[in-house]
Amino acid sequence: MTSSEIREAFLAFFEKNGHQRVDSSPLVPGNDPTLLFTNAGMVQFKECFLGTEKRSYVRATSSQRCVRAGGKHNDLENVGYTARHHTFFEMLGNFSFGDYFKHEAIRFAWEFLTETLKLPKEKLWVTVHRDDKESEDIWFNEIGIDQNRFSRLGDKDNFWSMGDTGPCGPCSEIFYDHGEDVAGGPPGTPEEDGDRYIEIWNLVFMQFNRSKNGEMKPLPKPSVDTGMGLERIAAVMQHVHNNYQIDLFANLIDFIAKTLNVSDHSNQSLRVIADHIRSCSFMIVDGVLPGNEERSYVLRRIIRRAIRHGNKLGATGSFFHKLVSALVQEMGEAYPELKAKQAFIEKTLSIEEEQFARTLNNGMKILQSYIEQMNGTVIDGEMVFKLKDTYGFPDDLTADIAREKGLTIDKNKFDELLANQQASGREQGGFKTDYNDTVEVESETEFLGYERLNCEAKVLGILVEGG
Ligand code: ATP
Ligand code: MG
Ligand code: MG
Ligand code: MG
Repeated sequence: MTSSEIREAFLAFFEKNGHQRVDSSPLVPGNDPTLLFTNAGMVQFKECFLGTEKRSYVRATSSQRCVRAGGKHNDLENVGYTARHHTFFEMLGNFSFGDYFKHEAIRFAWEFLTETLKLPKEKLWVTVHRDDKESEDIWFNEIGIDQNRFSRLGDKDNFWSMGDTGPCGPCSEIFYDHGEDVAGGPPGTPEEDGDRYIEIWNLVFMQFNRSKNGEMKPLPKPSVDTGMGLERIAAVMQHVHNNYQIDLFANLIDFIAKTLNVSDHSNQSLRVIADHIRSCSFMIVDGVLPGNEERSYVLRRIIRRAIRHGNKLGATGSFFHKLVSALVQEMGEAYPELKAKQAFIEKTLSIEEEQFARTLNNGMKILQSYIEQMNGTVIDGEMVFKLKDTYGFPDDLTADIAREKGLTIDKNKFDELLANQQASGREQGGFKTDYNDTVEVESETEFLGYERLNCEAKVLGILVEGG
């Protein structure tokens, strides 16, 4: 089954079971300033769970574009290292707003996996929250699952929340066993960090609203929120172990490999770049522009990281913006807004690339010579700070380079220096610090970049949303 076929089968299954099909909402949540990016299917329905918004339906299904690159759910560091994490992915979900609860949620999920997708039951593993006897009974008595493929876990694994505040509750998760050839143990064991047992579907039983002071108030009615990663279930259905081998990535990775002249398509940097072109393009589609604050800074960090990985593969000139066409080819049909904004995405990335290229080489040289001479395995916080401040190397980029060499960074020292800088910026100016402002040459480049970006947006006749 192709990814598109799986997406359609999922939505059709829940439609048949009385759910309203709802479009994906944008990556920038319209209803929630506490959240950096839409990180799950439930985000656009938050008010429905809280009971403060009523819709004409009480059951919904969607395929939601998500980004997990900041805040409570941040998988940026996992990309390229695990088989299952992306910064951008699609989450298939079904939702009940005070309508059905655990029985139906569990039955729907099991039926979809074992009957519609025809997955063998003996490849599935189920977890529940330790205190959730009700779900446990349903799994054993109504579904009849194998006791040997079942775990009871605590809050860390089986209590889901969107962020520090908002709707939350205990959950039950379904894992797929990719077989003995892959390293890793069942959920809840010390070996689970491997990629053998991959979590595919999370069924959250929404019962509480967590307030700022940590208080848990019951929701007006118990509800259901589920999420299944499209790329993960596609890997299962396409008999590959690694998400980056599925159809959605195959053409994209081919194209990147050709562009950068790389022959090994399982190269880690190729995968990182493939992931990053997806998240960066969709963030820009949804109105984020590279910059130095919040969402914009997350985007900038990801772009710079992608460029560095390209550089590592031997790219000498700009390449990242050239990959947008391949992404549009792959996903433009499912997301017409991506196709419509192709030229604008390319321009935005290309300006950012040009700007960073000037400083990348210098920064890399400085970091490399520091690493050659350093003692121990921890890169000094002052060095990390200098790279960020003077060369536009975000600290996570330095950490990424360090990790490849078996080193770490002194994050505490770095955070301290950053906090000092921010505090003195506040004293001086009274407005938020633009870190690049402190560097004369760089600040000029930044400025020109933005002037040009705005001009070009006008030339292209494109409205820069939120920018
Ligand atoms: P993991 O433990 O593997 O990091 P999670 O528990 O953080 O996953 P949930 O928050 O439960 O994930 O999200 C619901 C589903 O979304 C997961 O079961 C998985 O299928 C998918 N998913 C979560 N994070 C990612 C990601 N970074 N990339 C791709 N799919 C993801
Ligand atoms: Mg996770
Ligand atoms: Mg998990
Ligand atoms: Mg989970």
